[in-house]
Order: sequence, then C-alpha cells, then structure tokens
Amino acid sequence: QARLLFPLMALMRVSLDLQTSSALFARIFEYLDLKPTITDAPNARDVASGPELGRVEFDDVTFRYPDATDDTAPTLDGVSFTIEPGQYAAFVGPSGAGKTTVSYLVPRLYEATGGAVRFAGDDVRELRQESLVGSIGIVSQETYLFHATIAENLRYAKPDATDAELEAAARSANIHETIMSFPDGYATTVGERGYRLSGGEKQRIAIARVLLKDPPVLVLDEATSALDTISERVVQEALDDAARGRTTIAIAHRLSTVVAADVIFVVVAGRIVEQGTHAELIGAGGVYASLYHQQERGPALAVPAVEA
Ligand code: ADP
Ligand code: MG
Repeated sequence: QARLLFPLMALMRVSLDLQTSSALFARIFEYLDLKPTITDAPNARDVASGPELGRVEFDDVTFRYPDATDDTAPTLDGVSFTIEPGQYAAFVGPSGAGKTTVSYLVPRLYEATGGAVRFAGDDVRELRQESLVGSIGIVSQETYLFHATIAENLRYAKPDATDAELEAAARSANIHETIMSFPDGYATTVGERGYRLSGGEKQRIAIARVLLKDPPVLVLDEATSALDTISERVVQEALDDAARGRTTIAIAHRLSTVVAADVIFVVVAGRIVEQGTHAELIGAGGVYASLYHQQERGPALAVPAVEA
C-alpha cells in the first residue's frame, strides 16, 4: 500500500492553502516531505468552467512509470477514450492491467509518455495543476486519515468549510450519526494512535471529504473492495449519491456497480480491448462476457483469488 500513498497524498496536498500555519498542516508537510516533480507550464490556465467541464479524454496515451526500463512493455499502450460530462464510466479488467494508472494520469500525478490527456477540453499539461487536482475527487481502497480531529480531516478538502457544511457532507455520506456516537464527536482525534475507525467508517469520511470538495469529476478506485458485505452496502449507497451529477470514473471489482454504467472500458495489459454498455458487451461475447460469467460463479470481478 505504500506505493499508493504518494500520489494520493500529492492529490490532497495541492488543495491545501499553503499560507496556513495551523499545526495540522505543519504536520502534514513534515510527514509528506514532497517535492513536486511536475510543474505548471509558464502560461498554465485554470480548468475552464464551460459545457466541457467534466469531459475526460485520453488520446492515444502511452505510459511508462519513471523507474521502468525501456525494454519492458509500457504500462499503458495506445489508450484512447472519451467520457462525456456527467457520465458514469466503469473500468474493469484483471489486476495489474493498468486501471489505477489511468486514474493517476487524469490529475497529472504522472505525465503521459506519449499521446495526450485532456480535461474539460484542455491538455492537462496546459492546466494549472492546483486547478486540475482541485477538480477531481478520489476515493480509493485505502483511505488515509491524519492524526487529527475528524473535523480537521474533513476540512482538509475545504479549509473554510463551516460546521454546518461539515455536518451536511457527513450526513450525505451516511456518517454523521456515527461521528456523533464517538467520544468527542467531530472533535474526536483519529488516525495513527487516535480513535480507531472501521474500514467502512473511514471510507464514509473519505466520501464526506469528496462531497465537501464538490468536484466535477470523481474517481472511485475499488472504494469498497476492502469492506465486508454490510459496510460495503452502506458505503456503496453513499458513493452512488456522490456520483450523481458528476463525471464518475469507477474502477470496479463488483459487477453490481458496473451493470448500470453509461460506458464500460475493459482493460487488459495496458490496452482497452472492449468498450460499450453491459448489454452490448454481454452480446459481444468477449472478455467482459467471460469475466461476467466467471463472477457469477465467484465473488469479485477482476480480483484474483490471491488478493481476495
Ligand atoms: P490495476 O489497477 O489494473 O490493477 P495498476 O495500474 O495498478 O493496475 O498497475 C499496472 C502496472 O503498473 C502493474 O504492472 C504495476 O505493477 C505497475 N505499477 C503500478 N504502479 C507503479 C509504480 N508506482 N511504479 C512502477 N510500476 C508501477
Ligand atoms: Mg488498481
């Protein structure tokens, strides 16, 4: 999981107000010790808030991780797709296929080696990274909470949020009542050595954070895969609410969240091998259809037995 931490922290970090001197933020920077490797172009623009806001496009994107050697196959190889504003797009495929990597390239946590990634119609290399990252909310499998109060963890997404805004977001994420049952409510300290939260509680706090941020684009990377069936249902309901009205990129391991997607992209070994709706892909009788029939016999899509 250490590998995932860096980009996620980088994502959250950029949305912080660099001027703040609060102890919380001081601790975060101490902990992160990050130096941005990707910098803004001289004439970088903010994300345009026109009709294209929410469109995500990959145009023949090839990608190798910086530490990869030249003779290995690229992690992404000629990936092209367009997700229209407000669409729910699901990415499925075997573990290691490159789905999470796709999600890293949207906020430009890594730079495409070839081709172009476009956000709201602009090449991400021409956008101010703070503006780009501020337009994308992520809920992944592992949620990191800082050793700080719940309120501080939530305000991370929106430093000037009022108490009423925190509560509204927590209610929408199905976590307000739970927070109120903690020893100090929103002032309860969580994170390392803090009050211990269950996986489902952490995920709902992550969702409340995203709701406070209110981004046009939401990325869900196997956000419920580490949960038991009961918390999975509660968290999934909160995610479905959060996805409404925004572009959603859902990297999914459960079929139930995929079936209703506007478009499904099947990723195998760094390439999109099929795309369409559930009905179209079942009709095509290809990779998706066989993953689907496989899951009818087992619990999860695209998660091999060793990881389950
Ligand atoms: P998926 O999400 O579909 O399981 P990933 O996008 O996580 O796949 O990984 C795709 C490939 O890239 C895998 O072979 C993985 O080992 C490799 N990979 C992922 N992250 C890194 C990284 N930070 N550095 C080098 N290789 C990586
Ligand atoms: Mg992944």
